[in-house]
Amino acid sequence: MTDSWVNETLYAAWGQRFRVSRELARVKSDFQDIMVFESETHGRVMLLDGVVQITEADEFVYQEMLAHVPLLAHGAAKRVLIIGAGDGGVLRRVLQHRTVEKAVMVEIDGEVIRLAKEHLPGIAGDAWSDPRAEVIVGDGIDYVRQAPAASFDAVIVDSTDPIGVGEVLFTDEFYANCARLLSGRGLVVNQCGVPFMQADELRETSLRRRKAFPDVFAYVAAVPTYVGGFMTLGWAAKDASLRQADAAEIRRRAKAAGILGATRYWTPEIHVGAFNLPPYIAEHLPA
Ligand code: SAM
Repeated sequence: MTDSWVNETLYAAWGQRFRVSRELARVKSDFQDIMVFESETHGRVMLLDGVVQITEADEFVYQEMLAHVPLLAHGAAKRVLIIGAGDGGVLRRVLQHRTVEKAVMVEIDGEVIRLAKEHLPGIAGDAWSDPRAEVIVGDGIDYVRQAPAASFDAVIVDSTDPIGVGEVLFTDEFYANCARLLSGRGLVVNQCGVPFMQADELRETSLRRRKAFPDVFAYVAAVPTYVGGFMTLGWAAKDASLRQADAAEIRRRAKAAGILGATRYWTPEIHVGAFNLPPYIAEHLPA
């Protein structure tokens, strides 16, 4: 941090910087370097190992697309497994679905949860105390290894990139266990980088998902602070028809789930449109 600026260190030769109003926390946990600060432009920001994870200003884009798309594509998801997502934002949005009966969240770093609760309380709201929520501090790979077969309807992986502790969440073993613990129409979606700068992440992890799931695709969201254009969310489903629901059907499901009108980025039309990929992204998906 020089003077009052923080430079994101995701890319060696290009990146964004924030002018800092106030540093709120700087913790070296057992897993990563965690920084939370008040920015002049994006509200409060959390960095992990120098990479932007979440800002108060645009977190709604990412959290809505990571949570609502899989649950509404499935149409009847009652048991949801969330891996990572230590800020609690995905948990909050999953629990907005009144159709969800159980949400298990497995985050490896308890310090991320502690600092999010202390400095970014609005991200999770009161999700932490929802009786349907179970929050576990642990490694996602360990959890999926022991989860019983067909015990969940959807898996949402909101992890860091496939380096360091996040790497195990992009492996053949992880996806094979996800396929086993998911019910018949189950699916897994995951944070899969910005393909303009991280095309390898989308291409290589999609090939791994393909070994365990018949329908592998991706969908996009425009998250301003995930710099480089569209952010991709990886998609792996047991049933390709989950991607075929039209906007009218998605709207009906959203109304039944109680989330229609409660979003600032997601809409039924954005949901359907997010799967219409520009060629520079689609070219990285398995044929
Ligand atoms: N929204 C952010 C993004 O798109 O980059 C990610 C949010 S969240 C902070 C990422 C979380 O994944 C971190 O809290 C990190 O500790 C967690 N994580 C990384 N590897 C993990 C693992 N193997 N098991 C469980 N959680 C993990």
